[in-house]
Amino acid sequence: MSSTDILSLFKESQALLTGHFLLTSGRHSDVYYEKFTLLKNPAICTQVCKSLADHFRSSGVQTVVGPTTGGIIIAYDVARYLGVEAIYAEQGDPGRVFKRGFSLDPGQKVLIVDDVLTTGRSVEEVISLVNAYKADIVGIGLFLDRSGGKVSFPFPTHALATVSADSWEASACPLCAKNVPFTQRGSRKL
Ligand SMILES: [Zn+2]
Repeated sequence: MSSTDILSLFKESQALLTGHFLLTSGRHSDVYYEKFTLLKNPAICTQVCKSLADHFRSSGVQTVVGPTTGGIIIAYDVARYLGVEAIYAEQGDPGRVFKRGFSLDPGQKVLIVDDVLTTGRSVEEVISLVNAYKADIVGIGLFLDRSGGKVSFPFPTHALATVSADSWEASACPLCAKNVPFTQRGSRKL
């Protein structure tokens, strides 16, 4: 799939929304990526994972590593397409850790995957973890780079789609200045 196709898929599935959003960081933004809207739909998610797997098919990947929680689903499905194993980098204190007996050998060829790149912090934590095992990072695969290409890593990196999403402190938010109400995201009452 082309990056245009991927972006259309994100928008059609309502994973990528435009409006006026209050982010968990407290900042305001005009774009919101609702990650589990895509991840909850296996038929769509697997098409996106296949695109990532296809991109890294000739990279010699031996293990796919993804950060919890969304990265578990992505790593598993990308690994399935590549015919390799997937392991998960869980929240440690600080940084990321492998649990459940997961480990890497020195020189093992690793593909790191995640869905959305905003500040790059979670990918950086996974890089540090993989480096601690002296494994060989052969690529970083992402569904969506919402940093507009501002965040980069010293490894071959491929984002299926890129958007430039601005975010502001509330006091500097141009949408607040225009009295635009916050966009209500879909919530289902039980
Ligand atoms: Zn605002």
